[in-house]
Amino acid sequence: MRESTWISGSDAASSEKRNEEVGGKSHSAHLTGEAVDILCLSSRERYTVIKFALILGFNRVGIGKSFVHLDRSFVNPPDVCWLY
Ligand SMILES: [Zn+2]
Repeated sequence: MRESTWISGSDAASSEKRNEEVGGKSHSAHLTGEAVDILCLSSRERYTVIKFALILGFNRVGIGKSFVHLDRSFVNPPDVCWLY
């Protein structure tokens, strides 16, 4: 994953104001430090990130054009994968 970079973790998008600015949901797992967005610039990177995320126990995956959102929220429904 040479080109993958952490772009948003528990700190970067943790404030409610920042969450609103990026169009995040009010119950976003970013607000509780349970989510991270990872920059993925290719199909292979996206696949690798998702593969290891599932092994590590992330149970909520959002797929964007250039990033993958991962979280393990205890409030939001588990075992879901969505597209942005
Ligand atoms: Zn996210």
